[in-house]
This record gives sequence, C-alpha cells and structure tokens, in this order.
Amino acid sequence: TLPNGWTPEAAREKAARAYELDRKHIFHSWSAQKSLNPMVITAAQGSYVWDGDGNRLLDFSSQMVNTNIGHQHPKVVAAIQRQAATLCTIGPAFVNDARSEAARLIAERTPGALDRVFFTNGGADAVEHAVRMARLHTGRSKVLARYRSYHGGTDTAVNLTGDPRRWPNDHGTAGVVHFFGPFLYRSQFHATTEAEESERALQHLEQTIVFEGPSTIAAIILESVPGTAGIMVPPPGYLAGVRELCDRYGIVFIADEVMAGFGRTGKWFAIEHGGDVVPDLITFAKGVNSGYVPLGGVAIAPHIAATFDDRPYPGGLTYSGHPLATAAAVATITAMAEEGIVENAAEMGEGVLGPGLRELADRHPCVGEVRGVGVFWALELVRDRATREPLAPYGGSSPAMTEAVAAAKAAGLLLFVNFNRLHVVPPCTISEAEAKEGLAILDHALTVADGHTV
Ligand code: PLP
Repeated sequence: TLPNGWTPEAAREKAARAYELDRKHIFHSWSAQKSLNPMVITAAQGSYVWDGDGNRLLDFSSQMVNTNIGHQHPKVVAAIQRQAATLCTIGPAFVNDARSEAARLIAERTPGALDRVFFTNGGADAVEHAVRMARLHTGRSKVLARYRSYHGGTDTAVNLTGDPRRWPNDHGTAGVVHFFGPFLYRSQFHATTEAEESERALQHLEQTIVFEGPSTIAAIILESVPGTAGIMVPPPGYLAGVRELCDRYGIVFIADEVMAGFGRTGKWFAIEHGGDVVPDLITFAKGVNSGYVPLGGVAIAPHIAATFDDRPYPGGLTYSGHPLATAAAVATITAMAEEGIVENAAEMGEGVLGPGLRELADRHPCVGEVRGVGVFWALELVRDRATREPLAPYGGSSPAMTEAVAAAKAAGLLLFVNFNRLHVVPPCTISEAEAKEGLAILDHALTVADGHTV
C-alpha cells in the first residue's frame, strides 16, 4: 500500500488515466509538447515519491527545489486542513490571522529590519513587485542582473534572467543590463583565487554601474546563491561589496532568495553566509511553505516601505496572502524551527553530502567541480577535466547527461538536471541514511557519465 492509502492496483489505474488525460489536455512548461514523456507521481512522503508503476524514488530534486520540509509533513498538512475548515479565502485588503502570523514569522527571520511583507503567488511575481518598488522608490528605471541567474518566467523576471530561458522571451525589455558575477571555475576575470575573483567581479560591477550611468539605475538584483544557474556560492566579501556599491550609488539591493531561502543553504536566508549584509528587498517563495500551496513575497526594508506611506503602492493580487498558503507558511516555519530542520540542512551538507560528493569527484573523471552548501549542491560534469569542456553545451543537453539521469532514475533517484550539471538538492529534512543512499546511486550514475569523457 502507498503512503496515501492507495493499493498498488488502484495507484496504477489512476496513474494510467492521469497520464492519458495529461497528454491530451495539459500544456507543459518550458517544453516542446509532442515528445514529452512526463513521470506520474502517485504519492509522496518525506524524501520519497512513488511513480505510476509503484516504484519508490528518493527525491533529490525536492521537485522544483521547494519541498524543503519534505513531502506531506503532517503538521503542515494538518494546518492546511484546519485553515480550509475555518476560512478558505478572503481578499487581500482584509486582515486574517494566518496572513498576519506568517508575515511576523518571516519578518523575524529576515536579516536587518526587513519587517514588512508583500505576499505574492510565487517567485516570479515577487521579483516583478520588488523591481516595481525599487523603480518607484528611486525614480530610476534600469535594473542590473547577473548572467547565470534565474528570476522567473513572467515578463520582467524572465528578462532579468541570465540564462537561455530569456533568449526566446527577450524582446529588448527596456532597462535590463546584465553583468558577470563571481564564478571561479569558469572565471570571466582570469582570476586564480576566490579573493581575486571577488575583487575583480566587484570592479566589473562598478564599471558597469559607472558606464550605464548611476543615476539611471534603480536596482541590482542577484540570487544570494545562484540556484538553477549552477549553485555558485559567492566568495567571501562579494555580497558585502555589492551592498557597498549600492550604498555608494543610491541603488536598491534586491536579494532573490526564492530558491536559496528558508533553510536550503543551512541558514534561514542564504545572504547570512555573506556576513552582516542586509539587502533592501528580499524576494522569497518555494521553501517559505515548501510549496504545499503557492506562495511568494517580498520582504521590505522600512525606508522602501516608507515610500508608500502617503503615496499608494500601484500593485496587488487577488490572492496576496492567501489564507491556505499563509497557514502552510506558519506551520512550515514553526515546524522547521521546532524540529531543527535548518540546522539539519547545515549538518547534512557539512557532514555527509559535501564530503560524499567530493569523494565521488575524486573517483569520477566526469566531475569537473563540486560546489554548494547545506542541501544545495551542483556537480559540474565535463568531457575533459583539463580543458573543462562541459558534458553538455550551454543551454542544451547531451546523450551523456540524459543517460546519467536515466541511470539514476532507474536505480531510484530523482535529480535536478540543467545542461551539464546535476543538482543534488534534497529536502532539508534528509536523514544521513537517505543522503548516503542517494550518494550510492549517484556513484552509479557518474560511472555512466564517465563513459563519455576523453
Ligand atoms: N527566482 C529564483 C531564484 C528562482 O529559482 C525561481 C524559480 O525557480 C524564481 C525566481 C521564480 O519562481 P516561480 O517559479 O515561483 O515563479
């Protein structure tokens, strides 16, 4: 019997019908529709999911890197059920206890005094609103964003994005300028140490500001730790340096914590790894309630919020602070605090995943670099360690990557894959035994990828 109580036969039957209807009626994200063969998930529990044939797989993708508290956490499920029985929905202009409590719990955890929260339905609209706030606050229009970044699929967010998902969506959105952030393994700055990379990346950013015209720049947006673009933990001093540049030129600093926030890096917010850096706006989503109900938002510093003390903020959403979503956030944050889940992510990263992945890198020639923190890791796979030629082209796939991911899946492990990278991003609740189970399957998948190296 599956964890949701279904018999294997009932699950197979439901899976077959769901698959048939999906292929007939569902239009999928980021995909050519015809050749798709999506996986059915019939049940999920903790770190595991069950497919349409009844196979159990360890979920090292956390779906979209959002089930930070694991699947079907009983306290979160119960909170959603309680809220549904009490009050399913109210408009954003009204006051509701779940919404108020969620805002308090988030505000208490943000660095500095970011104590106002504007709730959205997800990450992309959080980014849209953060940019809108920055533009209205400064009276300027340009936004600087990193190459090797992802900020969401809506219009401004996808145009801020510094990866190939922007290309087909880019119609020359006014005022977005991209710059390179620090990434020593593929340094744009010919740096050989982290310190050099950080210093040169900051010089490059300042040059970009100066040549674009500081008085035209509303905001710099960056992921505190870039996620889908490769999990590049910034070198010490970089985020503090960005803060200094923002202060020097009167630019709003937006930290996008949609993927890295709420425990993923072993801290509540990833920016805490950069010392005492306090951004002006933080965008969040995903981990805030583990994605059990769609929710995102912007945490706002007092001086930005004050811009709208007497002047109306021109923006809003029907579902801003939806009771079911915010009740799930209250339960998620409370359970994470009570059960030491953020600490668990830090310990699993430092004690098991980090050492385990580095050990795999030592043995497998296909691994060019291992990088990450907490339960947020990437393996950069290469055809040739000497030249660092990627095992799949930037923006594309390759038989080597496809075969490695398929081998992992066949052996019971779901991974998040992007171009030449395998991302190891399990729930923050992962146990040592589960982490080791995943590493053993990964070992097998990397052997498959080794067959494609020179
Ligand atoms: N920002 C970052 C850093 C993300 O990783 C994502 C999604 O992966 C988004 C924004 C967009 O979030 P959503 O898909 O909820 O709109």
